[in-house]
Amino acid sequence: MSATQVRLTAAQLRAIEAAAEAAYPEEACGLLVGRQAPGGAVRVSRVEASANVAEPPRTRRFEVDPRLRLRLERDLRDGSDSVVGLYHSHPDGSAEPSETDRTMIFEPAMIWLITAVAGGHAGATTGWRPTADGAAFLPLGLELGGGKA
Ligand SMILES: [Zn+2]
Repeated sequence: MSATQVRLTAAQLRAIEAAAEAAYPEEACGLLVGRQAPGGAVRVSRVEASANVAEPPRTRRFEVDPRLRLRLERDLRDGSDSVVGLYHSHPDGSAEPSETDRTMIFEPAMIWLITAVAGGHAGATTGWRPTADGAAFLPLGLELGGGKA
């Protein structure tokens, strides 16, 4: 995947921000369903919240529930959408990948969204894509569209 941009609706972004605030002071996480759009962008069609199933303390780590991933893969088997990425939050942190995040690039094709949460209030959300070797993140433009989530 050579995505340079991720497109999502304002409602989808709000859903991610709401999940990030609800999980505070722990990290929120979930999966992004979508497809490759013309021009190298990834268009998000669905945001699926996950329980954070990481070992506590979950204030500095996250793990998406593998059962959610399995369910989505089954649901999406016959369609043109697929699981294209994940999101998580950084409670009282910046909207930049942490060292821990870098060690968690298991699928370089997955894009990442990171939402900073300060004192329980969602701040910036940024987009990232791993390099092909999975060693680092590159910034990904975030384009907000209209429409319903
Ligand atoms: Zn992180």
